[in-house]
Amino acid sequence: MPTPSRTADNHCADRIPVRVWCINSERDLVAIHFRDEDLKACGIQDGDRLVLDINGAVARGDVCLDLKGPWLGTQKLKSEGWSHRRITNALRAVGVDNPSEHVALIVERNGVVLPATESNELQRRAAALAAAGVPSASAAGSTTPTRVERVVQEFARSPAVVAEVLRIAAGRCELCECAAPFLRADGSPYLEVHHVRTLAENGPDTIDNAVALCPTCHRLLHHAGALDREAALSRLLSRATRLSAASSPSTS
Ligand SMILES: [Zn+2]
Ligand SMILES: [Zn+2]
Repeated sequence: MPTPSRTADNHCADRIPVRVWCINSERDLVAIHFRDEDLKACGIQDGDRLVLDINGAVARGDVCLDLKGPWLGTQKLKSEGWSHRRITNALRAVGVDNPSEHVALIVERNGVVLPATESNELQRRAAALAAAGVPSASAAGSTTPTRVERVVQEFARSPAVVAEVLRIAAGRCELCECAAPFLRADGSPYLEVHHVRTLAENGPDTIDNAVALCPTCHRLLHHAGALDREAALSRLLSRATRLSAASSPSTS
C-alpha cells in the first residue's frame, strides 16, 4: 500500500533579497523595518519567522505586519548581545551602508523554511513579484544558484499500467484527443500518464484511474483554475469510460 507523497524535509536556505528600511532598538526589542512592497512581494505573512543572514551572522524573529509596516521584531537579538550599533555595523560590513540596500532573508513558516524550489511556490512568489514590480537588484538572478537537498517520498508505480494506458491511448491525448506533440527518441508518441485520483489521496495505480495526456492537458489538470479543471475532468470521464476508480477524483 503506497504512502502519501510528501516532502519529508526541507533543509534549504532560500534567501530572499529585501531592503532594510531602518533599524530601531528599544530596551529588549530590536526591530528591523522593511519596505512594505518588498515583504509583500515575497509573499510573507504575519507571524512568519524570518532569519536575517548578515554575512553569516544570523538574526531570527517573527514578522509583524502592522500600521508601522512590516518589521522583524526580536527580543532574542538583545539577549544574544546584538545591539542597534552591532546590527548597523554588521550591515555596513557587508556593504549595506544605506538601509535601502538588499540583505538576504530566509523565511520559515510553521517551522519549515519556505522553499522556492517547488514550482507552485516559485510561481506564487513570481506572481507576487510581478504584481508589486520586481526589484531590479533581485531580477538579476544568480550566476551560482543555491543547490538544495530535499528528501522526497515517491510512489513505486507500475510500468505495466503505464504501458497499458499508453497502448489504449494509441498516441492520442485522452482529453483533447490530439496526436502526441512529438515522438520520443525511441519513436514512441510522447504522452504523460496521469492519475485522475492522485496516489497521494489513496487513488489506485490501476488503468481505471490513469489516463494518457498531452503535456498541455496534463498541466491544465494540475494548474488551471477550479472551473476549467472541473470541466476538463468531466470531459475526461465521459471520454475515457474505463475510469471507474476515479469516481472521487482529485485535481491535485
Ligand atoms: Zn491534450
Ligand atoms: Zn498528473
